[in-house]
Amino acid sequence: MLNKKSVDDINVKGKRVLVRCDFNVPLQDGKITDENRLVAALPTIQKLIRDGGKVILCSHLGKPKGEPKPEMSLAPVAVRLSELLGQEVKFAADPEVVGPNAKAAVAAMNEGDVVLLENTRYRAEETKNDDTFSKELASLCDVFVNDAFGTAHRAHCSNVGVTKFVDTSVVGYLMQKEIDFLGNAVNNPKRPFVAILGGAKVSSKISVIENLLDKVDMLIIGGGMSFTFSKAMGGKIGNSLCEDDYLEYALKMIQKAKDNGVKLLLPVDNKIGDAFSNDCNIQIAKAGEIPDGWEGMDIGPETEKLFADAVKDAKTVVWNGPMGCFEMPNFASGTNAVAAALADLDAVTIIGGGDSAAAVNILGYGDKMTHISTGGGASLEFLEGKELPGVVAANDK
Ligand code: AMP
Repeated sequence: MLNKKSVDDINVKGKRVLVRCDFNVPLQDGKITDENRLVAALPTIQKLIRDGGKVILCSHLGKPKGEPKPEMSLAPVAVRLSELLGQEVKFAADPEVVGPNAKAAVAAMNEGDVVLLENTRYRAEETKNDDTFSKELASLCDVFVNDAFGTAHRAHCSNVGVTKFVDTSVVGYLMQKEIDFLGNAVNNPKRPFVAILGGAKVSSKISVIENLLDKVDMLIIGGGMSFTFSKAMGGKIGNSLCEDDYLEYALKMIQKAKDNGVKLLLPVDNKIGDAFSNDCNIQIAKAGEIPDGWEGMDIGPETEKLFADAVKDAKTVVWNGPMGCFEMPNFASGTNAVAAALADLDAVTIIGGGDSAAAVNILGYGDKMTHISTGGGASLEFLEGKELPGVVAANDK
């Protein structure tokens, strides 16, 4: 059980609080094109303002590779955050992040004021978790709050290194939610516990499959990765995506499921195409009977029903990876069907980040899920059962 101190467990009145946020928003010509991450950060920031903290915000944006790149400045974020918070967010425009502007701005803060530092990845030390930059960040604050789940699987100065030099390090509301759902619900689930995995490759989810087979009552596998399992069992898969190096691994996982008493469900039919294109000719084929010259692009209608029925009694469902090439409208049906089935459940439904999170939102089921993770890589590492450095670094309760 991960039991970390959060912003609800500390008194920040009059204290300088450095908050690591995820302000890695898409920018086009200096304009923010999707502000979801800013809006998501508001509850933690507003709580600290209300409690009389001096709130110093920091984040990375893009990959400036350790040097100042004006097009990746956080300046537009300061402007939009000021509007969203209804109060000034003072931008400390130091190319070295912790420079004269940041120091002066922090020294002049009153309770409830907000300052935003420049892009932490302007500093080459940031991604090396180097002590020099970590100490500089720590020198600005009395308390550290990590609310950036997207980088929790990385040990960088602004989310891990800094905690070595600050007495109090806690998590914000966004991080707390990820810990509660991805960390604790997966390790201590209400049963039956079903995991649904999809996406392109087996190889990118090996540890996820292994770890979940020790935890779930049922594992459902769809998407491109299912064809490696199908071929391993002697099926014909035509030109479908397949990783021949993982055929033996697939057989091992089928055996592991049997040994652990986990029900393993694979597609019974597929929507197949004669080219990797939305406009190809389309047929339905039984699983393992895909003709030469055709490839599996989505699960088929029988499989949609099978998977939807299989989750009906579940009390916890974790889903990562689409059931087919959902970006092509003709092959989005399987992913849509799984999203719709989950939306109807009286269960804890947790969507791992990345493509499945995007699919659920695009398909309009976002508010029907218990939790949609904000971190792609970080959520996969949680599902692998790994300890995330950004989570470990926060003080225990
Ligand atoms: P991942 O990042 O591993 O979760 O994979 C997501 C990608 O898998 C998406 O871009 C899907 O289009 C792709 N995908 C899912 N099913 C298939 C399939 N049957 N054939 C090819 N690509 C697929």
